[in-house]
Amino acid sequence: MSKLIENIQKSDSEILADYCTFRVGGKAKLMLWPKNTEEIVDAISYCENEGMKYIVLGNGSNVLFLDEGFDGVVIELHRNITGIEINGENIYVAAGEFLSSAANKAKENELTGMEFAAGIPGTLGGAIVMNAGAYGGEMKDIVEYVDVIDPDKKLHRYSCEEMQFGYRKSIISDKHIVIGAMLKLKKGNLTDICDRMKELQDARRSKQPLEYPSAGSTFKRPEGHFAGKLIEDSGLKGYRVGGAMVSEKHCGFVINYDHCTASDIIRLMQDVQKIVKEKYDVTLEPEVRIIK
Ligand SMILES: Cc1cc2nc3c(=O)[nH]c(=O)nc-3n(C[C@H](O)[C@H](O)[C@H](O)COP(=O)(O)OP(=O)(O)OC[C@H]3O[C@@H](n4cnc5c(N)ncnc54)[C@H](O)[C@@H]3O)c2cc1C
Repeated sequence: MSKLIENIQKSDSEILADYCTFRVGGKAKLMLWPKNTEEIVDAISYCENEGMKYIVLGNGSNVLFLDEGFDGVVIELHRNITGIEINGENIYVAAGEFLSSAANKAKENELTGMEFAAGIPGTLGGAIVMNAGAYGGEMKDIVEYVDVIDPDKKLHRYSCEEMQFGYRKSIISDKHIVIGAMLKLKKGNLTDICDRMKELQDARRSKQPLEYPSAGSTFKRPEGHFAGKLIEDSGLKGYRVGGAMVSEKHCGFVINYDHCTASDIIRLMQDVQKIVKEKYDVTLEPEVRIIK
């Protein structure tokens, strides 16, 4: 065993279905749980030295692992890269923290601006990478700066502008690792913050199939359209491949309806893309990231 990872928590018997909200996926060749920046850098150096591919994982709420698993190293940040610090109207959040924990901490401190994020089931790191957003808010609106390990394994602080946030994207490639971010909020009123969070939570519960495993919206919103509406109008509500299904509650969600496999989900996504393209000449681009 390489010295680089001898002190890092690890396992070679983890099933990826246990680490993603879709609840599918085979074994990871190796899983590492670094507990600080140095260990993250050592983990990457190890992968490079051994010629192994790697991915960084938050809460796995926007990924699809394959049935054959991942023949590389999964660097998991949700377990150990944690911590939230409040400083006036600023809040520093470590990459592995749940976005909902940060939003709740902001609420406790009567800080407004993060209400939109309370119901997004990802980590801060995943939310930064994806520029996660909901109900009119997105990470771009509240990021002051982001601390990143760059492709040269150097620590770098990117301003919000340098992050080049766009719709569900940022400058972060699969060779950058987010380790934390400073969010800038505003002093607010506790009752108003609680009311807004409750309103958004109720909206989610009534519109989204939260009772089934999924990765949220499966496809990005195509310019000038809504993916869910195009899918529904294509007659695909409830469409099934194996145990995977287009949700009847919200056609934008592919759900793990009944012990589906990753292959079921991929075939279903391909069918949906093909049919929507034929009917409406619109290309649906996956929002969920397929990890190969
Ligand atoms: C029920 C449900 C509802 C959802 N609702 C919304 C919503 O309203 N809005 C929305 O935007 N999304 C939504 N999502 C999708 C998802 O929660 C977000 O995209 C979230 O930001 C992903 O965070 P994560 O920690 O789970 O990332 P993961 O799924 O773990 O990773 C996503 C990508 O980011 C990379 N990554 C993760 N952490 C890091 C890091 N620290 N450094 C570098 N790369 C990293 C991964 O390699 C992967 O490519 C929903 C998902 C579900 C299941």
